[in-house]
Amino acid sequence: MTGYCLNCGAQNPSEPCDNCASTAALSEFIFRRRLLYSTAIFLLGALAFLPAMHYYPPLDADGMMIFLGVVAAVELVLAVVLDRRARQAEPLEALRRIFRGLLPVPWLLSLLLVLNGRFDTSPPYREVTRVVSKFAMPGVLHTRRLMVTSWRPGQRIERVPVDEDDFARFRNGDSVEILVQPGLVGIPWIYSVLRH
Ligand SMILES: [Zn+2]
Repeated sequence: MTGYCLNCGAQNPSEPCDNCASTAALSEFIFRRRLLYSTAIFLLGALAFLPAMHYYPPLDADGMMIFLGVVAAVELVLAVVLDRRARQAEPLEALRRIFRGLLPVPWLLSLLLVLNGRFDTSPPYREVTRVVSKFAMPGVLHTRRLMVTSWRPGQRIERVPVDEDDFARFRNGDSVEILVQPGLVGIPWIYSVLRH
């Protein structure tokens, strides 16, 4: 028997493995079941991100979603590669470590957004700006953005996340007042959008 023990990572294990006493067949079964559960936990974390985004919509919502999308893509590819390598008894410890490292990312990101918003006791600040255009993407994410002239230096446009009502209420050219919360950990989020 060559390769690695899927259970404890020992190199060239005997059968059963003298390090963890598991047989190769049992190790592979446990490994793949764990991989499946881990992937499910990761995806649940990505789902938990959506209500967090809904209640405390960050000003840079799109940047965060792109980041999470890239992490999710990497994690799912890793899951497939790990599964294949386990079947072919190829080395996988390095990839497995990356997979484990990325596993809590969507949960941490969701938790961060909730902490950032839920315990943010500072009063919102007001930014008066103008709607330049609107953007809506149908589908699970229900992305709705008001594109407004930015008040931040070095930035031309802000893509302000809004709910269905606000999205319908405002038109291009409208002057709006945006109430921005600074956020407990410094992630600015949208408290409300008013007509100015
Ligand atoms: Zn072992």
